[in-house]
Parts: sequence; C-alpha cells; structure tokens
Amino acid sequence: MKKIKVTNPIVEIDGDEMARVIWKYIKEYFIFPYLDINIIYFDLGIKNRNSTDDQITIDAAYAIKKYNVGIKCATITPDDDRMKEFHLKKMWKSPNGTIRNIINGTVFREPIIIKTIPRLIPNWKNPICIARHAYADQYQATDFIIKKKGKLYISFIPDNSEKNKPIKLKIHHFMGPGVAMGMYNTDQSIYRFARSCFNYSVYKKWPLFLSTKNTILKAYDGRFKDIFQEIYNNEFKSQFESLQITYEHRLIDDMVAKAIKSNGKFIWACKNYDGDVLSDCVAQGFCSLGMMTSILLTSDGKTLESEAAHGTITRHYRLHKNGQETSTNPIASIFSWTRGLKHRAILDKNKDLKLFSEKMEKACIDFVESGKMTKDLLQLSYHKKNSYLNTKTFLIELKNFFDKKINE
Ligand code: NAP
Ligand code: MG
Repeated sequence: MKKIKVTNPIVEIDGDEMARVIWKYIKEYFIFPYLDINIIYFDLGIKNRNSTDDQITIDAAYAIKKYNVGIKCATITPDDDRMKEFHLKKMWKSPNGTIRNIINGTVFREPIIIKTIPRLIPNWKNPICIARHAYADQYQATDFIIKKKGKLYISFIPDNSEKNKPIKLKIHHFMGPGVAMGMYNTDQSIYRFARSCFNYSVYKKWPLFLSTKNTILKAYDGRFKDIFQEIYNNEFKSQFESLQITYEHRLIDDMVAKAIKSNGKFIWACKNYDGDVLSDCVAQGFCSLGMMTSILLTSDGKTLESEAAHGTITRHYRLHKNGQETSTNPIASIFSWTRGLKHRAILDKNKDLKLFSEKMEKACIDFVESGKMTKDLLQLSYHKKNSYLNTKTFLIELKNFFDKKINE
C-alpha cells in the first residue's frame, strides 16, 4: 500500500513508563508503515523535563498552538516519591496543566464502546462525553478554618476605588468554630468554555447539555447559564438547527438522573468540580481506564491535543522492567493517535487520512469484539473463558488484523 501523504505536521509528545513502552510500538506498527508524515517530536519523559528545567513542556505547548494538532503520551506528574526516585531538581508541575494553561482549551473525555464488554450501566449503548471546565472554582478557592465566634464578610475592592464603591457582603455570624471559603470564576473563561463546547457539539453532531445549580447559586451558576445561552443564540443556533441537534441547560441533579436513564451520545458540559467527579463516575460506568480517551480543544475549535485518560501505568512498568509479563491495554493510546490524525485530516481536508483513522478505530473495536483482549477487558467481558493476551502479543496480533482490514 502506498503511504498516505499528510501535508501539515503533527506534534508528538512522548511520555513515561509503560505508556511510553506501548507508545513506541504504536508508532512502529500503526503509524510509520502507513503515513508519510512530518512529526515534530518532544520528549516529555521525566528525565528530559528535569534536564531542560521543564522548558521542553512549554516548547511543546507552543508547538501544538502553532501546528494545531498534538498527540500526547501519558507523563508522570511528580510528587515527593517521584522527586526521590528520579533525583529531580524541582517538583515540576503537571505537564497537562502547563499545556492546558498555554493552549487554553476545554477537556472532553469519552469512552470507547465495545459491544462484548458489558457496561455497569447497561443502557449506556453510546458514549457520554464529559466536558469539564478546568478553570478556577474550588480548584483555586481560598478556604480556611474559623476557630472562634465572629462575623465573616466577603469584599470586592475595585481597582479604581475613587470612582467605584467597594462591595462588602455579610456571609455568616459564627457562634463557634467552623469553615469558610472564597471562590471565583471569570467571564472570559466561561465564554471560552462555552465556545469550546458548542464547537465540539457541532464537530460530533451530538446534543449539548450544561448542568449547574442555578436555583441555589443564582448569581454564580446563573452566570454560566446566561453566557451559554447568549453564545448559543448569537453564534450557534442556526448551525445546531441545521444539524438537528439541541442545546439545553439542566439542573445538575436532574441531569444526573437523565444521564443514568439515557443511551448516551451527548456532550455534558460540567463545571470544574462536577466534571472531576462525573468523569470518574462515567469512566467507571462504561468500563476500564484503558478505554477512555481525552482531548483538549480550544474555543475556536482549531487546536486539538489528544491523549489517553489513563496515566503511565506504573504498576505494569515495574513488572515489565523486572522481565515479568504484562497485559497493558493500548487502545486509548491508539485512539489518541487516531483522534489527533482525524483533526489533522479535517483541517487539511485530507479524505484519505480521515478514512485511515476511522479504519484504525474500527479495527481496534472489531479485534476486541472478535474475542482478543488484554487482561483489564477480559475481567469485564462476556468471554471470561477466553485467555488474555500479553502487551506485545496483543499489539502484534492487532497489527496483523489491521493490515488485513486496511486493504479491504
Ligand atoms: P494509571 O497509570 O492510570 O493506572 C492506574 C491503574 O489503572 C493501573 O495500575 C491499571 O490497573 C489500570 N490501568 C490504567 N491504564 C491501563 C491500561 N492502559 N491497561 C490496563 N490497565 C490500565 O494511574 P496511576 O498508577 O495512579 O498513575 C501513574 C502515573 O501516571 C503517575 O505518576 C501520575 O502522575 C501519572 N498520570 C498521568 C496522567 C496523564 O499524563 N494524563 C494521568 C493520570 C496519571 P491494575 O494495576 O489493576 O492492572
Ligand atoms: Mg478525579
């Protein structure tokens, strides 16, 4: 087969541990043999981040911004133990956080559905895609402990305080110890979140729901509701109508009930904390972490970074390093390539590349549905009597399967 020409480059971000081990095979088996592609490579392995004082992460993020497509392997986010393990100069920040701050997009997480792998929630026949507003709220709140009786106020002092009066609101009169918190968000970030969600909804041709608790937080959550409605009315209504998809705001409790009863196939825009909780809930309801994909999309819909939702799978890596057998599921990592390549294909209007990524996704699903699987899937599957494949055998057999399918 003649290699498919990919006109514009993609940015590849290499990572750590077991995720890095499977990453190398994915490129060797599924990418290089089929694509004539210019890859701008960044090694975000922990050692290289340390030796470049994390400059490599910043460079990678700007490259994604420039070329509009990033495909990322899972990376270690250092903690105390990792500091010691790798003799790090500093506790470098999460690469995902750094990239997100520079690219400034919304994270969408979506499971890959396999018919023969039962869901904990059986009527979830199609994916539910969670869009998490990954900015501020509880994650940048100031919280503290109140130790004695006293009055709690919150105040806003305008920068130009000669012309504008400060605002001071009474929160509570404490008669004893307790806790308190101050929390914020910005219009700019909510507008960007809304545009990312509407753009992704159009891209997927799926309906969009926003959940808030605006009956209780009338000003705070009400602002989210109003901004989404404004963007919908002014910028997306006609596109949604012509695609026959809908946008709706729902109360978070009502939305949770609706999601449980639904068959999936919608995008659920969540506030930051709700998105944190619900993405784990949805991942579990569908099946394994090895089957969750994740993308970061900018508000103009132009720049996309894709990755697997799982981490570097440290436990498997330690076995692998000791020469022991592992059964690591590469599917979410393969999908990080196909989702990134599909975005490249759409931007470049490259039909062959789009078809290639779709065929690869279908091959992964058909392969597992034919009864071949890694241990994480076998534990969940209807075919418990089958045996599972180890990491390398799964990849080799999948490659042979794909080789046959691609020419069909
Ligand atoms: P993890 O790598 O997601 O793995 C947790 C467990 O989930 C594994 O031990 C394994 O379970 C199962 N699992 C995950 N992916 C799998 C796959 N592809 N195939 C089969 N099983 C899979 O999370 P972690 O162990 O908590 O974190 C390890 C490192 O990853 C940390 O240093 C963390 O900082 C980093 N991390 C990075 C990202 C990212 O780059 N996006 C995200 C999360 C975590 P069993 O052990 O039961 O087999
Ligand atoms: Mg979480």
